[in-house]
Amino acid sequence: MKPALIRIWNEIDVDEVKKHLLMAGELSANCENCQQLGIDFAKEQACSECHTRFRYISFRKKDNKAEELSAIRRLKHKRPDLTIVDYEDIKHACGKSKAQSLFDD
Ligand SMILES: [Zn+2]
Repeated sequence: MKPALIRIWNEIDVDEVKKHLLMAGELSANCENCQQLGIDFAKEQACSECHTRFRYISFRKKDNKAEELSAIRRLKHKRPDLTIVDYEDIKHACGKSKAQSLFDD
């Protein structure tokens, strides 16, 4: 049987993820830590600008579900070293931590 793509939920430090996150676009990616653009997400291990080591990768949602799944399959095949994280989850968690720090002040 062909392996299925299953999302696994994890409790994770969002600041730590953002420090090591590659944000993939159609052709290239940017470093979420320093916003460096034009990174080849198929092969770069670390950011040439801030030297952060990439451990996570994310991309903006595609409208087409089948397209999204095939993009994930390609990514997993090319970058077994990276953990794919859901962009909406990161956005949501960041919004939450921002709101949290407002309460802390
Ligand atoms: Zn960087």
